[in-house]
Amino acid sequence: MEILLATSNKHKVKELLKILPVKTKSGKVLVYKTLADFPNLPPIIEDGKTLEDNAKIKAVFGVVHTGLITLADDTGLIVDYLNGAPGVNSARYAYSDRCDNKANNEKLLKELSGVSGAKRSAHFKAIAALAMPTGQLFIEEGKVEGRILTDYKGTGGFGYDALFFVPKYKKTLAEMTENEKNEISHRGAAFRKISKYLLEL
Ligand code: IMP
Repeated sequence: MEILLATSNKHKVKELLKILPVKTKSGKVLVYKTLADFPNLPPIIEDGKTLEDNAKIKAVFGVVHTGLITLADDTGLIVDYLNGAPGVNSARYAYSDRCDNKANNEKLLKELSGVSGAKRSAHFKAIAALAMPTGQLFIEEGKVEGRILTDYKGTGGFGYDALFFVPKYKKTLAEMTENEKNEISHRGAAFRKISKYLLEL
């Protein structure tokens, strides 16, 4: 049974393939495709006001354009001192028309310059959406708490990982192995919850 992951982010795909089940309870093999397998699709317009809106937009886009059961996620970094920014704008924080990870991280450091210790608290929130060809839609959420460092640490992961320190593990997400990150991450939590629907297919 084919499932579409409605993303072309290779880092996300790699994480998701380690989190999601390979078989349903009844023994059907689940084969995951990505947007890279459908190069002729139009771009997805992520114009929702919330992470949940955007996760739904991506999942519904996938099922409508391919007919496949579709999984999608939308993730935001929520920084308390910045009143929840960058939040739903995490991808286009530095430039409103494109995602530039380096520039996003630099902007975050700048916005938090002079802010110390506990005031740098933040969390990642991931919304996972599963859209079925029947029209059913399932939503699950995952979070990880941490704080924003004053400089980069670690070379793994992607996006804001090298600035996101998880006190419980005394490491940034970029210092963790893929399995460690998946075990505690926002995306790991959201997709483990949504896996229960896949297992029942
Ligand atoms: P989106 O969910 O692909 O729209 O991601 C929004 C923004 O958050 C992008 O800038 C991503 O690079 C970043 N992002 C998403 N997931 C993660 C993560 O697991 N760690 C760090 N940054 C992430």
